[in-house]
Amino acid sequence: MQIQQHVLPDISSGTVRELRSFHYGSFGQSGQGRKVYIQSSLHADEIPGMLVNHYLREMLEQYEKIAAIAAEIVLVPVANPIGLAQDIQGTAFGRFDLATGINFNRGYRHLTPHLLPLLEGKLGADASENVKLIRQQALAVLQEWQPDTATDHQKKILQTLAVDADIVLDLHCDNQAVMHLYTGTPLADDCMPLAAYLRAQAVLVSVLSGDDPFDESCSRHWWELAQHFGTATPVPNACLSITVELRGETEVSHELAQADALAIINFLRHAGYLRGKAPALPQALCQPTPLEGVEPLRAPHAGILVFTREAGDYIEAGEKVADIVDPVSARMTPVLATVSGILFARVARRYATHGMRIAKIAGPVAYRTGNLLSL
Ligand SMILES: [Zn+2]
Repeated sequence: MQIQQHVLPDISSGTVRELRSFHYGSFGQSGQGRKVYIQSSLHADEIPGMLVNHYLREMLEQYEKIAAIAAEIVLVPVANPIGLAQDIQGTAFGRFDLATGINFNRGYRHLTPHLLPLLEGKLGADASENVKLIRQQALAVLQEWQPDTATDHQKKILQTLAVDADIVLDLHCDNQAVMHLYTGTPLADDCMPLAAYLRAQAVLVSVLSGDDPFDESCSRHWWELAQHFGTATPVPNACLSITVELRGETEVSHELAQADALAIINFLRHAGYLRGKAPALPQALCQPTPLEGVEPLRAPHAGILVFTREAGDYIEAGEKVADIVDPVSARMTPVLATVSGILFARVARRYATHGMRIAKIAGPVAYRTGNLLSL
């Protein structure tokens, strides 16, 4: 295992911050070999993934001892040291950059427009040679990125560590939620073994979710380049990039983290990145559904939020999920689902402002457009 330190520019005089990446297996051939990248807590107050990464480190050390790692595997347990230090009078504030208000999981480099002129006339009939060239050029594009802020510098480091990987897992969590995944629509089938091992109850797919989240910035250019250059110069989807939502924010336990780490290890064995036969793939608990089909339920007015259904419940269209109780007027309004599907996430707070998103249901039919992720 090799530790790499990536120093961030000073946010303020007299302070130093750095990202650390832990490299297992056969490393040092960027862009050339098989590579897996797993980071946690990009939203810095989402802690379950940090503990999963802790156990992944232990497990990978064992695999390394018996020379059973058939790839480079990179772990970044604290992907956002800037956000992790943001604490406002006892409340962690790890989702948005305090300096700009920008979500730490938005604003990564959309590589396609930069890659197109570099690749024009350079791709051939050999898909694996094309993959190599595209990865080299993607790294070169990121090298040219001149970030204005420490936070953008952090984004550049993370995207550079991940962009030449075959598999990218970005470990997050929701407020109160069951296990669910986000990935690109062209990657839906490849994502299902991980969904099955992790017992995910929703897999949400989109070709373009908006505002350049991390996982999409590693995968999107592959299908966009394939579409642009056509079938004579094959470009496969060479990066299976997935955002893993490890249930709710307080679901931090040794048992869950060890089980989730083991599920990821089994997935990597199944995919051939770790040696040894993987346990039989369990039956998946869900099928992919479009991100455009997710219904974000909203509070119709301000008031006390009283959920009547749990995360993980299957909701029929027309069923009640919560009541909003105005403690002044005594008005009580039910919040009804308009689509059928798994109620996969709810907010943690119990006072709703007018229009606040309070829960999400994974409906099977696409009906939304525009920016599909919540801010
Ligand atoms: Zn998150």
